[in-house]
Amino acid sequence: MKKRVSIFMFIDAFGWEIQKKYNFLEDLLPYRYPAQMQFGYSCTAIPTILTGKKPTEHKHLSFYYYNPEESPFKAFKYLKFLPKSIFDRWRFRHQFSKIIKKINGYTGYFEIYSMPFDRLPYFDYIEKKDLFVPNGLAPTKNLADVLEEKNIPYHISNWRLSEEENIDALIKDISSEKVDFAFLYTASMDGLLHQVTKDGKEIQPKLDWYASKIKELVKQVEKHYEDYSLFVMSDHGMTSLTHEVDVKKEIESLGFTFGRDYVACYDSTMVHFWFINDKCREHIINKAKKVPYSHLLTDQEKVRFGIDFADNMYGEEILLMDPGVQIVPSDMGIKSLPGMHGFSPDHEDSYAAWMGTEPLDNPPKWVGDFFTIMTDYMD
Ligand SMILES: [Zn+2]
Repeated sequence: MKKRVSIFMFIDAFGWEIQKKYNFLEDLLPYRYPAQMQFGYSCTAIPTILTGKKPTEHKHLSFYYYNPEESPFKAFKYLKFLPKSIFDRWRFRHQFSKIIKKINGYTGYFEIYSMPFDRLPYFDYIEKKDLFVPNGLAPTKNLADVLEEKNIPYHISNWRLSEEENIDALIKDISSEKVDFAFLYTASMDGLLHQVTKDGKEIQPKLDWYASKIKELVKQVEKHYEDYSLFVMSDHGMTSLTHEVDVKKEIESLGFTFGRDYVACYDSTMVHFWFINDKCREHIINKAKKVPYSHLLTDQEKVRFGIDFADNMYGEEILLMDPGVQIVPSDMGIKSLPGMHGFSPDHEDSYAAWMGTEPLDNPPKWVGDFFTIMTDYMD
């Protein structure tokens, strides 16, 4: 029998409002704290949770950033003449993404989404490496780097596996008393919430499934370890769709040429603008200010959200939609989803959650604090 183990389970999108609304292991995990979401998406929040740093330090905000000189998609400009009917299909794009991933040797989560092929050459893609393994966020140290440095036997899930496979893999390592520290990653709650929203009747059964798997895990822990701590955390919540806005159409109605005058990346809830020709800057900004249900981020907001990049890596201007309002179509998808995240971290539906078997002396305020808490459990 081993002495003790600390287990940190990540459930994507299991936000503070969602845990308030449903039943989930109240007896086992009575100590609960809301935490402010990292501005951005899971591709921003996970690097923040794994390093405790802001996006300006770990450099991850959206998947795409303006970098025509070093774009891995330079050859794609010739693809714009190919038939849209085939090239815009999600299945085709997914298979195509797999090929690009293989050719370039990317180990991270790589998907080109709905970005038009002729626009890809203006962009680079941030998540080329597996974020969870040692050096995954180098030069910033991540969770695995710290565990290696401290020589702690650990288990970190393989995000490519299903969540059931990941839970079973951890149960196996616990049963063989191999680890003192574990980070269990599960992501399918996010997909479900996008489809059925936080009010979906499918949410409670899904939480019950997680609860039963956690009970199975705890049974093994109690058999093999004298003592344990267990925590569940999330990166954000889910906001139900209220309106759709075709921001792309509004901006393109000005008649400027993409790639010559300006470049823009349309995420589901925000637009990133870079200006090549200074003359169009004022026109685009004025147009952006008139887009309904949105506002341009102020410098103060950028500082507060940790996205005040000195080189404007993710846009000289960022237009953020109001909570619930989605950009349709966007470079991430051609249709809206019933639920979305990536709105203001100040909105109640954005809040992430932390819950545990024991209280914390320093409760988290922001998801980046989860990293500090995890490192406190390494000694
Ligand atoms: Zn999501």
